[in-house]
Amino acid sequence: MSVTIIAEQQEEGIHTTLPQLVSAASVVGGPCTVIIPGGGGEAAASQIEGVDKVLKFNGSCFAIFDSQSWSTALKGSIEGTVLLASTPQGRELGASLAADIGISIIQDVTSVAEGVKVERPVFSGKAIEKVAVSGAAVVTIRPNSLEPAGMGGSAPVSTIDSGEDLRLAVKEAIAKASEKIDVSDADIIISGGRGLGDISNFEKLEEVAGTLGAAVGASRAVVDEWGLPHSMQVGQTGKTVTPSLYIAVGISGAIQHLAGMRSSNYIVAINKDPEAPIFNVADYGIVASWEDALPVLHDSIKALP
Ligand SMILES: Cc1cc2nc3c(=O)[nH]c(=O)nc-3n(C[C@H](O)[C@H](O)[C@H](O)COP(=O)(O)OP(=O)(O)OC[C@H]3O[C@@H](n4cnc5c(N)ncnc54)[C@H](O)[C@@H]3O)c2cc1C
Repeated sequence: MSVTIIAEQQEEGIHTTLPQLVSAASVVGGPCTVIIPGGGGEAAASQIEGVDKVLKFNGSCFAIFDSQSWSTALKGSIEGTVLLASTPQGRELGASLAADIGISIIQDVTSVAEGVKVERPVFSGKAIEKVAVSGAAVVTIRPNSLEPAGMGGSAPVSTIDSGEDLRLAVKEAIAKASEKIDVSDADIIISGGRGLGDISNFEKLEEVAGTLGAAVGASRAVVDEWGLPHSMQVGQTGKTVTPSLYIAVGISGAIQHLAGMRSSNYIVAINKDPEAPIFNVADYGIVASWEDALPVLHDSIKALP
């Protein structure tokens, strides 16, 4: 079956998830087309091994993300199974495409096997749902769940001019006045919990985040009790994140928190309680108070070449 991947953009160019989606496409089999809404990064996309064709879509509607207008513009070029990254944008666009094309959608997949059989965590990660996909479907894949495809391809790039007969076009999107990296976009996250003792201690996390180029996240306890923005909350009722590195500071590791971060590639936990459940998922655990451990960790990071 053919596979169509909808690529996503990030500030630095094409989203890092694209080679991972191509690797999923190779398991599904069949020719693989990468669609780039609005263009950008098509040369890089064409060099990913396993990509057969790149379609760059031009059109004013692609200047600002709007799932409905993008779906209207793209749906005619979709063939077979559709793969997107399970990011906020990918999940929303995937749902619109599935509704517009009239096919099913499986969100937040973490494994793809021949067949097409996919797996995704459910009930806060306590169980894994296995889904056998029959026919075409939209599948969103959690970032960093799959090994990326290699480079070395040379797929042709075509340009498609999208018509302007859209019922809705977003003219302007006003970003929140914040320079901070959002946890959903971050490759490294340092999160704080009630163990920090006071909201003012989040400044210490900000300092480490500044050195690492990381985003700062939080447990629900501190979002609720200290009034931090909900956009920082990681977990079942917050954001699901899959960064390369997740550092949990003063977070116990309640099941609802783990639901949002346990798929991170590497987890480092600092907690003074050796029995804290966060250590069950941590790759590296530091049993110490954060007041002692964090400055040492920060100095070591600063000393890295
Ligand atoms: C329906 C539902 C949905 C929920 N959704 C979410 C969610 O999305 N995200 C989420 O995070 N939670 C969620 N929760 C809440 C969750 O159950 C926990 O209550 C919450 O995660 C606990 O936050 P915490 O780890 O910061 O605090 P605590 O559980 O109080 O843990 C604090 C930790 O800090 C350690 N500590 C204390 N002092 C220090 C120190 N000086 N140095 C180092 N360590 C120290 C302690 O040993 C302890 O392990 C949800 C709960 C429910 C019922």
